[in-house]
Amino acid sequence: MHPGGILEVITGPMFAGKTTELIKRIERQIFAKRKAALFKPAIDNRYSEREIVAHNGLRYEAFVVPATVEGVEKIREITLEGNYEVVGIDEVQFFPMDIVGVLNELADRGIYVIASGLNLDFKADPFPVTRELLVRADNIIYLTAVCTICGRPATRSQRLIDGKPAPRDSPVILVGGRESYEARCREHHVVPD
Ligand code: ADP
Ligand code: MG
Repeated sequence: MHPGGILEVITGPMFAGKTTELIKRIERQIFAKRKAALFKPAIDNRYSEREIVAHNGLRYEAFVVPATVEGVEKIREITLEGNYEVVGIDEVQFFPMDIVGVLNELADRGIYVIASGLNLDFKADPFPVTRELLVRADNIIYLTAVCTICGRPATRSQRLIDGKPAPRDSPVILVGGRESYEARCREHHVVPD
């Protein structure tokens, strides 16, 4: 069941089922009586520890850590001090590049590491953290969503502002937040200049 120390990367666009796949894999390890931890980046800088209850009643710890160098160090510390055998990280692309070395080290130490993260940003540029994890991965799960325009497999995340494709130079964070995202295929992904 436990594959040994490996780095597994789940990637793809928004709505591809990355979080679902991560939880499924963590749950399977818990069924196999492995000590598993799930980490998520916090939007703000608070650190909290909480228990997640899966739909089937299984309980396991989830740690919400800041998306900073300190947060990455926290992941390393909690994993090693807690003697975790399996570690899952969701939204991995939001962590600083230090996460790559830490996850690689944890895998070298025999831990089964599952990192889930977006492949490309709204401009279809790679998220550097995901890219660096992908080339070091022992196993890659590349998921696609369904294109909202044509129904073909979607590999990209379309950002919309007031229902229109977001221009290349649009701000990363929008005041008022009148934005949304859709899964799109290569043909229907639009980034106006
Ligand atoms: P991710 O973590 O990759 O964003 P989730 O695991 O949170 O994905 O959610 C995947 C779910 O999103 C699918 O099972 C489906 O119910 C839903 N969904 C919504 N829009 C789409 C879409 N365009 N293509 C595929 N699934 C979609
Ligand atoms: Mg997700």
